[in-house]
Amino acid sequence: MKQLDAAPALDDASFAELRDDIARYVAGRAEEWAQRIELERHVPLELWDELRDRGYLSLAAPVEYGGRGIPFSRYLELIELFSMSHASIRMIVHVVNGTWRAMDRFATPQQRQAFVLPSIKGELKIAFTLTEPTAGTGADLRCSVEREGDTYYLSGEKHLITFGTICDYWLLFARLAGTRGAEGTVALLVDRRSPGAAVVEMDESMGVRGTDHGRLTFERTPVPVANRLGEEGQGLDIALGGFLTPSRISVAMSCVGLARRAQELAIEYARKRETFGKKLAQRQAIRFMIAENATDIEAARQLVLHAARQWERGSGDAAMLSSMSKLQAVDMLTRVTDRALQIHGGSGFWQPHAIERVYRDARAQRFEEGTNEIQKTVIARELLGSGGGSA
Ligand SMILES: Cc1cc2nc3c(=O)[nH]c(=O)nc-3n(C[C@H](O)[C@H](O)[C@H](O)COP(=O)(O)OP(=O)(O)OC[C@H]3O[C@@H](n4cnc5c(N)ncnc54)[C@H](O)[C@@H]3O)c2cc1C
Repeated sequence: MKQLDAAPALDDASFAELRDDIARYVAGRAEEWAQRIELERHVPLELWDELRDRGYLSLAAPVEYGGRGIPFSRYLELIELFSMSHASIRMIVHVVNGTWRAMDRFATPQQRQAFVLPSIKGELKIAFTLTEPTAGTGADLRCSVEREGDTYYLSGEKHLITFGTICDYWLLFARLAGTRGAEGTVALLVDRRSPGAAVVEMDESMGVRGTDHGRLTFERTPVPVANRLGEEGQGLDIALGGFLTPSRISVAMSCVGLARRAQELAIEYARKRETFGKKLAQRQAIRFMIAENATDIEAARQLVLHAARQWERGSGDAAMLSSMSKLQAVDMLTRVTDRALQIHGGSGFWQPHAIERVYRDARAQRFEEGTNEIQKTVIARELLGSGGGSA
């Protein structure tokens, strides 16, 4: 597949300037938002506007679409920085910089004008809507549509949908009634205000606080056939095909960024805290944990960057490498945040120590873009074929 964002739009000096600007934003203004979000348990819409106005929502999209055209592996340097911030900020930047890619591969020129470009401009919020409460993710999905003329009638349920209650459209995956497996699946852009669609906010989550997550139900909700991306039967290809590989790599880099933040906090604390007349930073046990963390983080970063470069080159290994990098990075994040909290001692278990939030936020990454079990399934399938085993 031709990579749309292959042409760099920024020279090295401008990119370095942008990276410094983001690093300053993350350490300053974003921390203020983080405190407000944790207090109010809500992401204000002004934060979306600010991220858009600063150009952070259109970093990865091509210049001809109104984006900054930053090549993918360089964009990852930026998502690494955003991931050192509050998880809700990282979530907005990651989702908006990625969703256009899922839609664009299959969009008609009219659909590109109506959905892809406004989403890049930050004028339309689009929520990726796949997971269901009563079915496995992917070919198992049960939400179904019946076609009558130029309209599909959608029935079924979805849940855990990020931005599901505030979005303008759900990019929703369903199947033609009566079909099974990947066959007959469709990708639809469903207007949140459609009749027969009901959405409620999920209960409070362990981490990624403030981001809304929706539980949706549809009862014969009309969706114009013109809002279908690709053909009937291509739904899962749109959800899980070419889009998922870069998205998994981006989530893997988010793990690297959050782990870096945990390490930063651990070092800061170890330098300050004194026990039995010595700083923690002077104790070999603590120094070893810091050394292990640094090694873990760097190993994951290099695998993530390798996966990104292979994807940019169109390598056949890219999908497997994206799963490997996600698996490796998320396990690394679990180890690093655990050690970082250990270094803080019991105090770190309480607010306002930032490690308390980082530790909670880190757990969400194990579900995003597929669990570890799913990543292992993908890797094993590449190495062994489907072999008649389980999905
Ligand atoms: C913070 C957050 C944000 C999210 N945002 C979105 C979103 O915007 N849009 C969206 O569509 N979804 C979203 N999700 C849902 C997420 O994609 C799913 O939670 C994830 O894919 C796992 O699916 P599940 O929850 O249905 O788990 P289940 O499928 O019920 O799995 C439960 C456990 O069994 C394992 N398992 C399941 N099937 C198999 C199998 N075949 N072989 C081996 N093991 C298996 C899983 O790995 C997992 O450990 C979000 C989740 C979180 C936590």
